[in-house]
Amino acid sequence: MALRILSSRIVRQTGVSLFKVEQVIDFGMHNFKQFILSKSHWNPTTNASVSLHHAQSGSWKAASASEPHLVDSNRGSKIVASYQPEATRERHHLIVESADEQRFEFPLIWLRDNCQCAECFHPKSYSRILNWELFKVDAVAQLREIVLTENGNKLEIIWSDGHRSQYGSEWLLKRSFDNDSKQEYLNEWYRPRPTLWNKHRFGEILENFEFKDVINSDEALLAWIECLIKYGVVMIRNTPLAETEARKLVERVGFIRKTHYGEEYIIKAKEGTSNVAYLSAPLQMHTDLPYYDYLPGCNLLHCLVQSESQGGRNLLCDAFYVAELMREKHPKEFKILSETLVNWTDVGEDEGREFHSIYRAPVICIGRDGNLERINHSVPQRDSFFNVPLASVEPWYRALELFVGLIHREAVQFKTVPGNILTFSNVRMLHGRSGYTDTVANTRHIVGAFLDWDEIYSKWRVLKAKTKK
Ligand SMILES: [Zn+2]
Repeated sequence: MALRILSSRIVRQTGVSLFKVEQVIDFGMHNFKQFILSKSHWNPTTNASVSLHHAQSGSWKAASASEPHLVDSNRGSKIVASYQPEATRERHHLIVESADEQRFEFPLIWLRDNCQCAECFHPKSYSRILNWELFKVDAVAQLREIVLTENGNKLEIIWSDGHRSQYGSEWLLKRSFDNDSKQEYLNEWYRPRPTLWNKHRFGEILENFEFKDVINSDEALLAWIECLIKYGVVMIRNTPLAETEARKLVERVGFIRKTHYGEEYIIKAKEGTSNVAYLSAPLQMHTDLPYYDYLPGCNLLHCLVQSESQGGRNLLCDAFYVAELMREKHPKEFKILSETLVNWTDVGEDEGREFHSIYRAPVICIGRDGNLERINHSVPQRDSFFNVPLASVEPWYRALELFVGLIHREAVQFKTVPGNILTFSNVRMLHGRSGYTDTVANTRHIVGAFLDWDEIYSKWRVLKAKTKK
């Protein structure tokens, strides 16, 4: 059945779609006849759906006849009207109007690419399977018909090649291209924005979790991960005092990230070491392993024996806070530290394997979205090869001096106790340790392990999706 649309409008208060239409051809679908009031306003009243053909411009319009009268919690995800706009600029788009009076715009090419039929999408693997070698942008995304079915819960498109695509209205509206929806998806499912903290806020942001809770309860596991994402540091308490326990915590999330220092690594003062962390001297604040392109994202430091000497205190600083502070107050130095490539390196041998790592990256790494992505800072691991123009060298050192001054100003100090696992982001936090003295009866003993952020975010989404069901 085709109807010629003479004009259309939406009543803002009620969401009712009004169409002034006239019937062009009657295929004998008598059920629809009651809606057709030629050249007058038509107010949809029953459960049927119709598709309307705009004879003059050749565009299509579909309206769900019952929807405007429904007021329920699901209102926002139901479609009351869908049509191809008449403005040439938007001709390759589809407009969708929801029951709560919102208007969404979807490119036809995107709709065709995201067809959910069995030929195009494999739901079990959540994968697109349509053959893109045969996909021609100009050929495949031409509309023949739009139909709203199931009370506006489903939009069906019949393409000019006869292919049929169906989209659930909730599925579709969630994927809207408006800025609010895009931002909501990024915060809800990609990566939530971190909450940055300065020295004075450390007391309020540091959350403690019991090891046994995180091991046994998915709720506690999710809460720990959410705190880690938000604040970049969380303390786990009352972990059994064995070298095997850090791995158990890691395996609740994913798997240990191996580096050239192995999987779990033991931090005890040792002679003839390849790494300064294995000395008992003070450890300046740093990020671990900046010489890795694929940097281990999160540190877990399990304290088995703490030093009874004055030392062995942890230093920690939210370097994202410091970087944002610099972006605001010291833009020149921020620019230098975020643009100058520094060579990070590690040369040595561990567990019988020799290594020679180099990675070039600025101290402050900004992502393509302008957000902070990663901080690199390690005095021992910064190479003497510095491949920058001569004139850039001294300004860079001055910018680094400012950065180091700020990280010390904003650093907090505390001392973990046996049973603590200090978990913190290695892309965001800087950590260090004051020097200490071992005795025959008291040898400081820490077990470290790494987790990747990819695995942490993945587990977070899995747990979140389960709690939403
Ligand atoms: Zn399909």
